[in-house]
Parts: sequence; structure tokens; C-alpha cells
Amino acid sequence: MKALVLEKYKHLVYKDVPDPDPDPDEVIVRVKACGICGSDIHGYDGSSGRRIPPLIMGHEASGVIAKTGSGVKGWKAGDRVTFDSTVYRMDDWFTLHGLYNLSDNREVMGVSPGTYRRNGAFAEYIAIPQHILYKLPENVNFNQAAMVEPVAVALHAIKISGIHSGDTCVVVGAGVIGTFIIKLLRLSGASCIIAIDVNDNKLLNAEKAGADFTILSSYDSIPEKIKSLNSGRGADIAFEAMGLPESVKTAIYAVRRGGKVVLIGNLTPVIDFPLQAVVTGEIKVLGSCAICGEYEAVLNFIKMGKLNVDDQIFKIAPLSDGGEWFERLYKKEAGPGKVILVP
Ligand SMILES: [Zn+2]
Repeated sequence: MKALVLEKYKHLVYKDVPDPDPDPDEVIVRVKACGICGSDIHGYDGSSGRRIPPLIMGHEASGVIAKTGSGVKGWKAGDRVTFDSTVYRMDDWFTLHGLYNLSDNREVMGVSPGTYRRNGAFAEYIAIPQHILYKLPENVNFNQAAMVEPVAVALHAIKISGIHSGDTCVVVGAGVIGTFIIKLLRLSGASCIIAIDVNDNKLLNAEKAGADFTILSSYDSIPEKIKSLNSGRGADIAFEAMGLPESVKTAIYAVRRGGKVVLIGNLTPVIDFPLQAVVTGEIKVLGSCAICGEYEAVLNFIKMGKLNVDDQIFKIAPLSDGGEWFERLYKKEAGPGKVILVP
């Protein structure tokens, strides 16, 4: 089969590789669409350390089952599917306690952090364990289905936040995840949504997605601005979708005393932390990791026409042009929105 292989950092090669062989509990999916994630770009240049070459990346995908392993039940060739980006064990303590996204020895599709290597979906075929598959509703197409993974990451963060109807929310970082958080906040009853980003274009996109107010991160009195939009208090909840020292601080200073900060961005291993603001303000700081059961709800939102994902697709390109699109995304010459590669 053809695949887009990261042979060394910043060097992708579209080439022939052996077809995957399914384990008894796996199916082979013929990939129809796979989105490029921000984390793939930070893997492409080696900065995250989580895409050690050689590797086929790609974890936001959809396709059709081509073949099933001998132990597969309930799935057949021809089924249209998407799948979780996390591969987890069923008998793990965390999985059994409803926390499969945190399970021991979990693996992420298209990732190789040194302890394992699992090839992803920038390829014609991929082997997928049957327990992480989700069937596509008839009216959801493959490109929309490739967007389900990032939307599910956004929905997981909203679940972690415990949002109440009427809350004022701030979203720091208006990339794909931040934009879907904005869209889902509208569905979750936020009374006021404020987006913050360094990039004007992304803020324009955030506004189209439903942000009521936008603030450039270079603005020097962001907390005061937010208070002026919210009866003199800070926001009830801030979502941080970057993971940089400055953007985390922005999120913490954006919320009122007793408010919550949900951290989704993951770019920096260790940051400087405004300890006294958090302690004296009783601010709840919550981490949100990947997805834990949000796929069906996201597929339903799309199926029922409640969530538009098409307007966040920047480009649909052939997988053979993948190297060029990675380079453009790396140089920030594409977007806002998702680039989807089609084998
Ligand atoms: Zn991703």
C-alpha cells in the first residue's frame, strides 16, 4: 500500500510499505480521510518528541472496513467507520473505572514516543482494534467523520469543566480545538463566549464560529477587558487550548474567584505557575486529556445538523501531496481550519 512516512524530522516520503495484517480482534480499514493535527506538526519537526521516525502519523480518520480478523464480532467488510485515537486495554483498572483515556500502556494512533510505535492513518490501510470503532450515520460523510476526533477532544474538555447554563466562558487559543470548544459552548448554554488568540484571522474565524467577543493576546489588560464584559467579575470558566506559559497565565487571570480553568493545550512540559492567584482565588485547575466516550455524541451532533464541521475544513488534498501540506502548516501558511488528506 501507499503511505506517507515520516522518515526523519521534517522529511515525509509518500511510498510503498507492507499492508497491515489484522490481529484476531482487529479490522483493516481502508482510509478515506485523515486530518492533520497540530500535534502531528509538532511531531513532524521533532519538537514534541512523540513522533520518533520512522512513523506513519495520523489519528483523525475515517474509512471503510476492508477485512476483519478471525475474532471480530459485530463488524463486517463495507461498514463505514471512524475510530478513537487512543488504543486502550479492556481489563485495565482505569478503563474499568470509566477513565480509558488514562489507562496503563495506552497507545495513540500514529504516535511513537519511544515506549511504543503505532502507525497511523496517513496510509491506504490501517489495522484498528474492534473495540475502538464507531459506525458512521448514513448522512455523515468521510471528511466530516475525520473531524470527529478533534471535536470529541473539545467536548471532553467541556464535560471536564462541568459548565452550567448561563456561564461566561473564555477560550484561549482559537485553533481547531479552540474553535470547536466555542461551537460546543454555544450548544452547552454559555451566555457569553470570549476568544483570545495571537492571530487576527483565527479570531475572525472564532467570531464566525460563535464567539461573542474576541481579544488579541497582545492586548495589555485582558483581565480588565473580560471583567468589563461580565459585571466586573472574571469569567466562570476558561479553556486553554495552547499549552504555552503565557496562554496558561492568561487563562488563570481570566477567571473570577472560585472559577475554573480547563487545560487542554500540551505544548510545554513544565511552566511557571501563578500559585498565589490560584490559591487565594480558589481557582480550580483541571487537566483534560484526549477523549473518553464522546464519539457517539459528536456523531449525533453532526447527524442531527446541530454542529457544522464543514466550515472548519480548510483544504482536502491527496495524501501524495501530504509532504507539501505539512510544510505549509509548519510555516503557518495554511488555515485557519483543518487540512484533510485523502489516500
Ligand atoms: Zn489530534
